[in-house]
Parts: sequence; structure tokens; C-alpha cells
Amino acid sequence: MIASVVVDVAASQTNRAFDYLVPSVFESQIEPGMRVIIPFGPRKVQGFVVHVKTHTEHDSQKLKAIEDLVDIKPALTGELLSLASWLSEKTLCLQITALKSMLPAAMRASYHKKIELKDEKNLELLPEHLQPFFKESKVVWWEQLMKQSEQLIVDVQKEVKSGLLVIEPVVKSKETRKKTNVISPLLSGEDLLKKADQVERRAPKQGEVLRHLVDIKQPVALPRVLELLDVSRESVKALIKKGWIEQNEVEQYRDPYVDREFASSEPLPLMEQQALALHDLVETLEKGIHETFLVHGITGSGKTEVYLQAIDYALKQGKEAIVLVPEISLTPQMVTRFKERFGSDVAVLHSALSKGEKYDEWRKIRDKEVTVAVGARSAIFAPFENLGMIIIDEEHEASYKQEETPRYHARDVAIERGKTYQCPVVLGSATPSLESFARAKKKVYRLITMDRRVNDVTLPTVEIVDMRNELRSGNRSMFSTALTEAMKERLEKNEQIVLFLNRRGYSTFIMCRDCGYVSQCPHCDISLTYHRSNQTCQCHYCGYQETKPNRCPECESEHIRFFGSGTQRVEEELVKLLPEAKVIRMDVDTTRRKGAHEKLLSAFEKGEGDILLGTQMIAKGLDFPNITLVGVLAADTMLHIPDFRSSEKTFQLLTQVSGRAGRHEKPGEVVVQSYTPDHFSIQLVKEHDFHSFFQREMYFRKQSEYPPYYFVALVNVSATELTKVVSNTEKIARFLRESLSEETVVHGPTTSAIPRIKDRYRYQCMIKYKNEPKLTHVLQEILKTYQTEMTRTDLNIIIDTNPYMLM
Ligand code: ADP
Ligand code: ZN
Ligand code: ZN
Repeated sequence: MIASVVVDVAASQTNRAFDYLVPSVFESQIEPGMRVIIPFGPRKVQGFVVHVKTHTEHDSQKLKAIEDLVDIKPALTGELLSLASWLSEKTLCLQITALKSMLPAAMRASYHKKIELKDEKNLELLPEHLQPFFKESKVVWWEQLMKQSEQLIVDVQKEVKSGLLVIEPVVKSKETRKKTNVISPLLSGEDLLKKADQVERRAPKQGEVLRHLVDIKQPVALPRVLELLDVSRESVKALIKKGWIEQNEVEQYRDPYVDREFASSEPLPLMEQQALALHDLVETLEKGIHETFLVHGITGSGKTEVYLQAIDYALKQGKEAIVLVPEISLTPQMVTRFKERFGSDVAVLHSALSKGEKYDEWRKIRDKEVTVAVGARSAIFAPFENLGMIIIDEEHEASYKQEETPRYHARDVAIERGKTYQCPVVLGSATPSLESFARAKKKVYRLITMDRRVNDVTLPTVEIVDMRNELRSGNRSMFSTALTEAMKERLEKNEQIVLFLNRRGYSTFIMCRDCGYVSQCPHCDISLTYHRSNQTCQCHYCGYQETKPNRCPECESEHIRFFGSGTQRVEEELVKLLPEAKVIRMDVDTTRRKGAHEKLLSAFEKGEGDILLGTQMIAKGLDFPNITLVGVLAADTMLHIPDFRSSEKTFQLLTQVSGRAGRHEKPGEVVVQSYTPDHFSIQLVKEHDFHSFFQREMYFRKQSEYPPYYFVALVNVSATELTKVVSNTEKIARFLRESLSEETVVHGPTTSAIPRIKDRYRYQCMIKYKNEPKLTHVLQEILKTYQTEMTRTDLNIIIDTNPYMLM
């Protein structure tokens, strides 16, 4: 038996599969998608088995043998293996990089393999020579047996097949899987309620436990029930004795949501537009074909409810679903909506989870213990094998593009998987990306429009305040008169306020008022950010720190101080302006601790705060009925970022934030403060007019030859020596011009928007093209040509075939 293995050596010379002999000890177990340990040159490395076959074109006498299996079950499915090839081709990354990026981080760590008796009672059923191992200790380690004899491993594998033994991976880390007691009903919900009525008089606590089980509809953790209902262990024992419920010890997944119960929610009767949307999706599900939908639905139009019901339909077909939401809106509120509808069928993949937790969630998907995966970008690789639906909420979000290799966009991966499984892919947004909306207009995607809010709740009124006028009329504070008045009014009425501060470009920097000197990082060409807490100036790219200067290093003036304002400063001003207001601040500083995010939000929901002040992380997913005012402190900071998408991003963000106000009965109001109030991306937010925005922005994109009219690819070159960067980028630009077709435009070499980071100079070439079949090949050539140069020296070339960060 021969296995083709992609080895974990990141170099273009090794970017293919190598053949290895499979020792007989592994023959019955080895499968494509497993990781193995193999000799490679003088080293031992990991690799992925991509094929298992019976012959090789190479001299099989000379083949080396696989040394050990890392996985017990394939880490990747057959489909994901092919997807990895597709991914490496599309994004120009190495195959090993693509393969590794599909696994949760914990899987990249090494682990031990533990062999256990499934049921201790069955010890005698084992072959005699194996019995002693399991008599002495419950757990036997694979590595131990390997050392003793290979035959033992073969025999153990036989018993795994027969079901007497189980092999489990144990991640080499401090975190181990916990066990916990759960109780679950043995009767139907109806019967439980009857029993609850019976015992109510004499044993009210027992009744409560029964009712709780009916509410939750799934096994609940015992410690949690005891605490939540304040009942004694005896009450629970009594119920077990009566045979109404049972108690089991189960492995506790480190799911942070496991200790919480979720009430169950029923599908809502749909509004007309929701019903139409659902109808289209269900129709495609029934036909079992692939189609990409773009659901353009304004904030509060009930898109999420449509997703939930469409997923429900797919699950009833016996299929599985992936839901992507941007990391930032993977809020407890969002997760709760899915958990309430689908209970324990949901796995949540969230970057805030620890490695072990992520591994647990991922394993539930692989082992088909769940049918719905909700997560951020990388959840698109959830190892389901019968996908029925993929949903990408807020499809315009830049976080769906990965900014390290493999530089993929989750939308492209979703559509590729949708084609494989012949299932619908649903892109949803109130402000679709220009690319997606243009495709919908050309009927490449099917457009579904939802332009009315649920129950016809009106969209909030938006007022745009010209901050230049405020300054002229003598108001030097960061709050305009209009916003201040509006805030006072809400405080009086006991309604809630969301204040949004755009983090990007709005941090504090140190400037000399006399000569204009700005503190800059000595290694990167950007200004340092002032951190009030420890009086330092820090570089956000390389972490460089210095203490705040008291005198200007240029002109010795003492008038050197910080400008701009972070959330901390806004909070201080706010306290002065409205001393009676209770402010909850949400930014990277206050949400660093695990669970802090959730705590702050639920405090706000409970009315423990009047004003929620925050950055991007509060722009999405908030749905609280008492929020009637949204204030945007500086709408235009994002407009000035050197990026052709800056208007689009501004419009999207402002629309999202505005959508937080007045989502229920009480009407909402939005106050947007701006220094460029006439810019169309700000004006059109006022009219809630996506279509006009689309037209204006498309015109600009056409004029300046940007997506969606042209495709863009970016070649970034960096090195510590400036001359080296310039000469190599020039060579690359020349090669590109010679090799690509005449219609294709090659810009460059030019310096990058940030010309230096961590002492490395940065240059780039931008390629704009409409149709360039040779592109992948030409770009691969560049990588190949410079490969040796790149490993030998510090030259670095990064190619992005669909760039979102143009810095
Ligand atoms: P979107 O995702 O488009 O912003 P949501 O799905 O969050 O909208 O819906 C907005 C609000 O309306 C939510 O509070 C949701 O529970 C509620 N809602 C959605 N659909 C219905 C419906 N058919 N009937 C009543 N309420 C609904
Ligand atoms: Zn100065
Ligand atoms: Zn720096």
C-alpha cells in the first residue's frame, strides 16, 4: 500500500505530494485526510495523506515508510482535500498552507492517542493477551504499545473496529476534557407536565425541575440546575428514583454556552416579504441545485428569521448548514438566536474560544453530533459532508477576507462548496458590497429584496451635523448642540443611547502646536498612538514604545500634546457634560477579559446603563427595543483612508450603526457628526438610499478602473534595503507588462500606503484586468523566480489576488 503525502515543509520545491510506503500495521486504518509522521530528508515532519493507492510510478524499493499516524479519524474529508487544491490554485498558496488552514488551531498542535475500553464490563471479551493492559489501568497509550510491538497495534485496531475499544486524541496541553453530570427526561414533555402538577403540592422543587426540563428540551447540567432553581440534590434523586428522569456522566465540551440554558423559540409567522424570500430559498432546496442568492434587506427587515426557517427546512431534508457572521457581530445575542431555535444541534466557532474549546466544537461537527455551524470566516471550512445551505450574513464585511496566507475570501469558498454540494449560498446585507450587488444586477446571483422593516417599523430619521459650523459658532466640544440636546431628551425619557466612535484613524496622537511636529515610530512610517493609562506613545504596527515627551524634540516648545480622542476621552467628556448619565464603555480595553463583552451588553440590555459608548464592535447585531438614539461622533475618519473602497465602507458603517436605533415600537433618531457633510456617502445615509449610492459609486469605479469593473491583484515587495526593494519591484513590473495582455493595466512600482513597517521598506505593483487567463501562471512564475532569493535573503513578496487591504 502506498500513500501520497503533502509534507509540512513550506517551500515551492516541496509543493506536491510524495509517495510513502504504508507499513502493514497501519494498512487497515490509513485514509486520505489523515495526518502522518514521515521522514523527510534528515528530519521527521508531519504531512497530510491525500491519496491511498496500490502502486507508484517511483521505485517502490526506494520509498520510505510512514512512521506513525497522527490522527485516528481523518482530519479532513475528501471534499476538503479537493477544496484545498482549489484554494492553493486560486490564492497562489502552497498546498500545505491550504490544508493546514482548514483545521482548528488546536489540531495543529500535537497530541497523544489514548486507548480505552468502551465498557469496563467487557474486559473478558477482549483477546486474552490484550486484557492485562486494560486490567491494570483504564487508559493505555498508543505510543506505549507502539514501542512494545507493532502487532499489538494491529490487534488493538481490530478491537476498535469490533467496538470494544475506543481511541481518543488527547491534545497536549493543560486543558483536558471535563466530565459533568447531566439530567434528562425519560418521559414526554406532556407527561412531565402532568407529573409536575402531581408533585407540585408536596414537593414544589421537584415540580420546578420537571418544568425546567420541559422548557429547555435538552439535557441540562446538574450543577447548573441546582444553582439556578436552588434545589437540593435530594429532590433530583427523588425524581430519578421515580423513573421520570435519568442522570448521566458525560464528557463536558468546553463550550462556553453549555452551562447556559437557552429557552426554545418557535418559527415566527412571516411578514409578506419574508415569506417570499423563504419561498425562493426553499424552492432551490427542493430542487437540490446550487444557486447564489443576494438578500438585500434593510436593517430590521427580518433577514435572520428567514435564515433560521430556511436552515430548518434544510435540516428536515437531513442536511447541514453553515452560517457565517462577522467576528465582531458574533455576539451572544446572535448566538442565542441560533441556539434557541436549534438547541444542541449548533456548534459555535468563535475566535474568543480557547484552543481546546475550538477543538471540541470542531470535533462535534466532524463527528456529526451537530448539524449547524455558526462562526466567523474560518467556519466556512466546517467539515460537514452533506451541506444543504450556506449563509453569509453581512456579506459586505471586510473580515471575510483573510489577510494572511491563504488570502481567501469566504464568499468564494462558500460558492465553491455550494457547487460541490449543489446547495444554495445566501449572501445577506443591508448594504451589499458593490461586487455582489453588481453580480445580482447581471443575474449572476439571484436578488431578493426586503425593503420593509418587520411590522413596518419606520427607519430612523437621520440628521447630519456640520461640525465646522459648530466650531465657528464657538462649540469646541466633541458633541454638537444637536447631539447634546437629543441625549438630554433621552435621559429624561429613560430611553437608551448608543454612541459610536470610529476607531480607525481616530486614535490619539502627539503633536506640537508650535511647529507641527508629530511623534512617529522610528521603524514604521506612521504616527504613534498615545496611551493615557501608562503615559506612553505606542506604535500599533510593531509595538515600539516611548514615554510621552514633555518638550517638542524639534523646537523645544512645551506646547506638545495629544490630539484626537479615543473612547476613554469621550467617556470623560461625557461625564462632564451629562453627569447623571450612566455610561457603559465597550472597546478593546474593556472587553479584553473573556465574557466581558457579553456582560457589558447584558448590563446595557437590563437598563444598567443609559449610554453605550463604543467602537466598531457595537455597530452590528445589537437589537434592544429601548435604544432610540444613535450618535456618530466622527463620520468621516474612514473617508480619508487611502483605499478605493473608503466611500463604500463609510456608507456601510453609517447605515449599520443607524440601524441600531428604533428597531421596535419606539421611533429612532440618528445624529451623524461630520467635517465633510456634503460627501455623497454621508448624505445618502440620511435618505437610506442604497441604490443612489450604488450608482454614484459605480460611476467612480468605472472612471478609475476599479472593481467591480476591473479585477485587481496586488504584488507587495518588502525588504530592509530600499535599493533592493526598488530594483526588484521594477523587475517584477517589467515582467508583468511583458507577460500580460495589452488591455491589462500594471501600475507601479509605487510605494505602499504605509511605506515602511518594522524597518522594512514596502513597494507594490497593482494589476487591473478584465480578462487575463494567464494571470495565475504569470504570478506563480514570479513566486518561483524569487523563491530562492526569498529564502536566502530578507526579500519578501506577497501576492494577493483579491486585495481588501491596500495599505
Ligand atoms: P435583520 O436581520 O434583517 O436585521 P432581524 O431578523 O434581526 O432583522 O429582525 C428584526 C426584529 O424583528 C427581531 O427582533 C426579530 O425577532 C423580529 N422579527 C423578525 N421577523 C419577525 C416576524 N415575522 N414577526 C415578528 N417579529 C419578527
Ligand atoms: Zn515643535
Ligand atoms: Zn512601528
